[in-house]
This record gives sequence, C-alpha cells and structure tokens, in this order.
Amino acid sequence: MSDIKQEIYFDNNATTPVCDEAREAVALSFDHRYANPSSYHAAGARARFAIETARENVAGLIGASPGEIFFTSSGTEANNLAINGVVKYFKNVLGMKNLSVVTSEIEHHSIINALKAVSGEVEVRFVKPRCDGYVDAGSVSSAIDESTVLVCMMMANNETGVIMPYEQVGELCARRGVLFHCDAVCASGKLKYDVKKFHCDTLSVSSHKLYGPKGAACLYKRRGVSFLPMIFGGHQENDMRAGTENLHSIAGFSAACLKANNSFDSNIAHYEKLKKLFILNLHTFMPCAVLNVESFTGLANTVSVSFDFADEHEANAFMFNLDTMGLYVSSGAACASLANLPSHVLLAMGINSLRARSSLRISFGTQNSEDEIIKSLEIIKRAYEMVKRFGKA
Ligand code: PLP
Repeated sequence: MSDIKQEIYFDNNATTPVCDEAREAVALSFDHRYANPSSYHAAGARARFAIETARENVAGLIGASPGEIFFTSSGTEANNLAINGVVKYFKNVLGMKNLSVVTSEIEHHSIINALKAVSGEVEVRFVKPRCDGYVDAGSVSSAIDESTVLVCMMMANNETGVIMPYEQVGELCARRGVLFHCDAVCASGKLKYDVKKFHCDTLSVSSHKLYGPKGAACLYKRRGVSFLPMIFGGHQENDMRAGTENLHSIAGFSAACLKANNSFDSNIAHYEKLKKLFILNLHTFMPCAVLNVESFTGLANTVSVSFDFADEHEANAFMFNLDTMGLYVSSGAACASLANLPSHVLLAMGINSLRARSSLRISFGTQNSEDEIIKSLEIIKRAYEMVKRFGKA
C-alpha cells in the first residue's frame, strides 16, 4: 500500500503545477537551446530564437508587442523593476524633487515593500480598500496630486480574488498624466485583458501562477515609457535587465502563456463550476463559515472564508489539522505565512485580527476536480470539529 496520503492542492494562487506543455518546452530547451542567447555562433542564435519566440507568445497573452516585454526572474522582480525604474528615472534623469506614488494597502508585498524601500526618495500614499475588499477609483483619484508620478494597483487581489477597477484607474492616470503600474500576477490567465484596450504603462505577469515553471516572469512596458534598469551588467533585455536569460524557464513560461490563451474559456468554466460547488455546499458542512467577500464575484478560482475560532491557538490548530489531513490551502498570501502574521489584506478591509487568522484562502486550479471539492469540505469539517473538541490532531 502506498504510504503517500491523498493530497488536495487548493493553493493555486500561491503557485500552480507545471502543465504538460510547459514541461515539454522546458525539456526541449535543454536539447538544442542550451547555448548563451547572447553568443554570436549558431547555437547562440538558436537560443536567441527561442527567447524571441517566447517574447511573442507572452506578448500574445496580454495584447502587447513583443518589444514591450522584458523578462525577469519573478513577478516580485518585475514589480520592483517598475517601481525603481520609474522613481529613479524621475529623480536621477529628470532631476525632479518632492515626488509621490499612490498605491493601496492591499497590494502584494512585492509592491508594498518595494515602495517602502524607496520611501526615503518619494512620498508613498496608501489608499484604504472598502470593507468589501475593493479599492475605489475615486479614492485613488483623491490621493493623486501634482507631485504624483506613479500609481501602483493590482488587477485582482491574490487573497480575496476581488477584481479592482483597473480600467478606470488606468483612464484617470492617463488623464492626469500619471504613470500606471498594474500588478497582473494573480489575474493573468484568470481575467481576459488586453494592454492595448485599457491604459497601463507597465504591468507584471509571472509564469508560475499560470502553470509555467518558476524562475520566469515579465514586465510589460508600453512603448515610449522611460525608466531606468535596476540590475546592471550586459545588454540583455534591451539594456533593461542585465543577466543571462533563464532560457529554460522562459521556454516553459512561453508554452504556459500559449496554453492559457487557448484554453482560457474552458479554464474559467472549470473554475466557476468548482467555486459554485464549494460555496453551495459550504454551509451544509460548516454552518459557522462566513465568506470574507461577496460569493460569486471576483476571480473565478478564489474563495476567502473565515470561521469562528475562539483564539489564535484554535486557528493555528485548524491550519495544522488541514495540513495533516492533506488539504493544502493558505491563511493568506504564501509569502506572509512564513511570518505567521494575519493577512494585511483582510486587516485593511476591517476584519479583526482573530477573524483574519481564522480565514482560509482557497484557490482552485485546472487540475482540481469536483470530487475534491466535496472531500475538502469533509476535511474542513473534521479539522474544525477536532479543534473544537481536542485542539490539535
Ligand atoms: N503580485 C501578486 C498579486 C502575487 O500574487 C504575487 C505572488 O503571489 C506576486 C506579485 C509575486 O510574484 P512571484 O511569486 O512571481 O514573485
């Protein structure tokens, strides 16, 4: 008998499994494309061709031109590049002083902490979300003044799945002459958007959130937008991001983007079916469950739900029990769980610390099944009852 317990992976906003097409592309990249893409010889040219093909495929997913795509190692790096690149350009090239950047309190830490790191050079204004997790475009507009050079807002929140008014914010930024960086890391592959149809100046996408391998991501930079690089060295990525390209991950990213484009509608239909089944059965299994955001809005694959634990020990024991029973979910963003802090997103929405600690972020993937939904609800019920009866499993 196998000693591997059955596992249900519902943490697809943290990372997704690598799809077959991306695996195959990565494997192929080791064969004839191992050379340095900057090398002059034919082997180098093959590797260069693979990178440029990938640039076209990634651009194709978001409606960009290939020349507007700059590969990075992660969504985190792409967000840092957008922020540092713009701030440094305004300060060092244009010599401007008294600059401000507007963002929201519920951004990913790769935005919040990158902005905190430049807060000595620019004033950073954090807009509060509403209690339903939505950042109002009017609040963003009110925070902008003549010192504002950049607005950073995510397309959809990775913890709650709430979709932000990115089109409105893009439009108001264009009208007021402010650059707009949109963090589309969580939304890409789950929302259909086209960078030519809404206004944004820079936008980030990450491979491992859409069934590609880790180690590749990109920053889209609209043609004509100026910024400075953050990493210096060779001339890779049109002088915007030095360092030998991670061709293998980029090849996988490329295949994952092609697949995300081709199977978008069926993926969304699958997520919707799973989410509906989960939500419709939730209260039968867990009468005390409270959805942190409106049930059927937001990203089709994301549910944020909280329970009535009496203290943080019960909440921790619940997470421990779920893990022991093989249900993999998270209580917030994966990168924050290492610090064991309550979700900054839920706190900003006005949810109290205990409720935030008693929350689960459940995010479905294309590999999940309806059968797993019912099993997961049984596990949640059992894990909860054990906490209420005995504490830890
Ligand atoms: N932005 C959002 C909204 C995310 O959800 C994440 C990852 O969870 C990131 C940025 C960072 O992306 P990466 O994991 O590729 O660094």
